[in-house]
Amino acid sequence: MSKVTLKAIHKIYDDGYEAVRNINLDIKHGEFLVLVGPSGCGKSTTLRMVAGLEEISKGEISIGERTVNNIPPKDRNIAMVFQNYALYPHMSVYDNMAFGLKLRKFPKSEIKERVEKASEILGLDALLKRKPKALSGGQRQRVAMGRAIVREPDVFLFDEPLSNLDAKMRVEMRKEILQLHRRIDTTMIYVTHDQIEAMTLGDRICVMNVGVIEQVGPPTVIFDHP
Ligand code: ADP
Ligand code: ADP
Repeated sequence: MSKVTLKAIHKIYDDGYEAVRNINLDIKHGEFLVLVGPSGCGKSTTLRMVAGLEEISKGEISIGERTVNNIPPKDRNIAMVFQNYALYPHMSVYDNMAFGLKLRKFPKSEIKERVEKASEILGLDALLKRKPKALSGGQRQRVAMGRAIVREPDVFLFDEPLSNLDAKMRVEMRKEILQLHRRIDTTMIYVTHDQIEAMTLGDRICVMNVGVIEQVGPPTVIFDHP
């Protein structure tokens, strides 16, 4: 579990477009912070800079006590969950969850222990031998989260993880994500354009609009006084 600090962050894309302008954010240990705002306002760009998937044009991001500007994604101790689950279709649920740890040469016994713990948390125990195509959308998203959990990251990043699910499943998965946050007690940064999702999930909400932060505060403050 780590704090995450964004200091005067800017992102200027190669075509000259400034997608993020002077973002300052202090995200506390174990906090669930939601970045919300209309499509194109720079949420994903911001998250991807925290993940190391996008270069920071100006400013400084730190995770824990460490400045990560020049640290590659795999060394940042973060895990990211996307809307398209990006599961390996030919691998079982178990192997999808185990894959990242295998790459990192974890011992088999440790892999098994972590995958089993994650499946228990996510209710995937009975599905470990299935292939992704034999799963529902919600189950696939659970596997994608499982893949992130087994890494035991300091920080969890979510980029619109529920936007491919139907309304009923979205409500269910919101509950699961909250439960997950309670159980593993990790710092979470969650991107969505959905205000209800933001309100139900966030300890604190950061409202973005056209590259800048408009408001930061607890959900009641943000949505009671538009
Ligand atoms: P959001 O996640 O809020 O929908 P994004 O961070 O994806 O917004 O995008 C912010 C802005 O940056 C948008 O106007 C988008 O078109 C632009 N953008 C995103 N990626 C690139 C890129 N690779 N090159 C140029 N502009 C980009
Ligand atoms: P490997 O991962 O090298 O194929 P393992 O002995 O770890 O060998 O696992 C063999 C297969 O059994 C794996 O591909 C995995 O899909 C499945 N498996 C392993 N452990 C479990 C488990 N606890 N529950 C369900 N399936 C499992």
